[in-house]
This record gives sequence, structure tokens and C-alpha cells, in this order.
Amino acid sequence: MMLTGMHVAIIGGDARQLEVIRKLIELDAKLSLVGFDQLAHHFMGATKLRIDEVDFVDLDAIILPVHGTTLDGKVNTVFSHEQIPFTEEMLLKTAKHCTVYTGISNRYLDDLMKAAGRKYVQLFERDDVAIYNSIPTAEGAVMIVIQHTDFTIHGSRVAVLGLGRIGMTVARTFAALGAKVKVGARRSEHLARIMEMGLVPFHINDLEKEVQDIDICINTIPHLIVTASVIAKMPAHTLIVDLASKPGGTDFRYAEKRGVKAILAPGLPGVVAPKTAGQIIANVLSQLLYADLQKRKGNGQ
Ligand code: NAP
Repeated sequence: MMLTGMHVAIIGGDARQLEVIRKLIELDAKLSLVGFDQLAHHFMGATKLRIDEVDFVDLDAIILPVHGTTLDGKVNTVFSHEQIPFTEEMLLKTAKHCTVYTGISNRYLDDLMKAAGRKYVQLFERDDVAIYNSIPTAEGAVMIVIQHTDFTIHGSRVAVLGLGRIGMTVARTFAALGAKVKVGARRSEHLARIMEMGLVPFHINDLEKEVQDIDICINTIPHLIVTASVIAKMPAHTLIVDLASKPGGTDFRYAEKRGVKAILAPGLPGVVAPKTAGQIIANVLSQLLYADLQKRKGNGQ
């Protein structure tokens, strides 16, 4: 699998993007790097450019950082002092087949991509990326629990809320460390799967009852689920770790009032394992770019 003949612009980002650059160079893609001027490392086969020097007409793909752009259309980068504009005017210069890749989208990008009519991929919405990312996320959850408790995970009573891509890995990880894990879900097939995994299932509607005997509560449900009335039933020493995307699913105001420690922990893969997190993106991206290249070759473009 090679990407010879493909021209890709990588615009901005953090350490994770370095893994993408490495991988795409290895696969022989032609790279234009924007927003990497402060990076001492020189990549053979990649050219560092300013955004106004990019040959958009020639591009096959544009790779934005995990967070895409700001809401006013700027791309952040840790390797340059400058914020980089990413505009409709630039996109309209590209060939029709040019695809834009981002981690997550926002209103600005949604509107821009709709107006420009180019193919658009949000990597973090993909199941494969979410499942791979659940591994560093679960390790990060272990780190936070260790940092904020004075007892072992082994033997502790843990409630994991949600059996999605993150919840399943978190539940398995804590169980493997010897915790007594119960998992709250609402779908009967999830409750069946939890039982099959050798863990204790409970319906999320019974959360108030189920938290009365726990030491740790790990939420992965991106809705307000750990409400004041749930927190009121927890033992005072319970640690709440909320992994759901901001603002999380916990009533943090009430937790603080009641003296229950509650921690919102977003973006753990980039914190605990930026290299692995970068490799996850790089591997999936290179497969998508390759499939795109093959498709165009098939179409004789
Ligand atoms: P997911 O696969 O969609 O799982 C979410 C789970 O929540 C699903 O099983 C869903 O169950 C359940 N759920 C949703 N609404 C519910 C409700 N009202 N009551 C009961 N259950 C409900 O998502 P994921 O990939 O696991 O990600 C979970 C969250 O973690 C997201 O917010 C994601 O952004 C975040 N995340 C955080 C990190 C980090 O570092 N902290 C890393 C990656 C992802 P149903 O199937 O019944 O709807």
C-alpha cells in the first residue's frame, strides 16, 4: 500500500500530527506542511509552507487537526505562533475530488464544507477510531483514579455508566485490574452483553439505588445522568470520573457542594499517549487515502 502521486496538505495540529506526517512520508505521499515553522525537525519529502504558498489546485487531500478549526475559521497549531485561516476561497481552488479530513467538526466547518461541496470526513465519528481511542482513554481513567484515591482499584466497587465504545473498554480494564465492576445501560442487548462479560448489569433507571455502595463512578454517557439526586445517594468518599465530552454528564456544582470529588477528564488519549493517539489517526487516515487513490485510479481520473 503506497500513496505515491498523492499530494496532501497537513494544516496545523499538535504532536499527534507528527505521527501522521511520518506515516504519510513512509507511504511516499507528497506533503505540504502548514503551521510547522517552529518545528526543528526537517522531514525529508515534505515541504514547510505558509498557507498562502499552498498550491491548492494540486491537492488531493487536506488534513486538519483533531479539533478542526476554531469557530471563526482559524486552525490552531502548537508548532507555529500564527493561527492559520482556513477559508471557502482556498477550498474552492481545489479539484472536485479533494477530500478534507478532521477529527471533529464544528459549525464553521460544517457550513464551509457544505458551501464548498468537497468530500468531508470526521475521523472521530468512525467506530474504528473510537474503539482504538478507547484504549488510551481507559488507561487515562486508570491514571486519574489512582491519582485521586487512597485505595487500590483491585477490590474496589466501580460503576461504569454506558456500554458504548468507551464504556466497554473502561469496564473491561477496571475488571481486569480486579475491581468489582457493574455497568449501567438502557438497552437490553447491552445488559445481556454486560452479563456475558462477567460483569454486573443494571438498568440506568436504577442508578440512584445502584450507587449507594460504590467507591468509583465512571461516566461515559454524554448527557446529564449523574444528577444531584444520584450524587446525594453516593457514599461521601465516592470518586466520580466523567469521561463524556464537555460539559460531561455530572452535576459538578452539586458534587462540589456535597463534597464528593468529581473530575471531568476530556481528551485523555492526547494527554496520556499522544504518540499512540497519533498512530491511530495515521493508520486509519492512510487507509482512507489509499482507498480514495484506488477509487480514482479505477475511475481513470
Ligand atoms: P458511544 O459509543 O456512542 O457510547 C455512548 C453510550 O451512552 C451508548 O452506549 C449509549 O447507549 C449511552 N447513552 C446515551 N444516552 C443515554 C441515556 N440518556 N441514557 C443511558 N445511556 C445513554 O460513545 P463513546 O465513543 O463510548 O463515547 C462516549 C463519550 O466519551 C463521548 O462523549 C465521547 O466524546 C467521549 N470520549 C471521551 C474521551 C476522553 O478522553 N475522556 C475519549 C474518547 C471519547 P444507547 O446505545 O442506549 O444510546
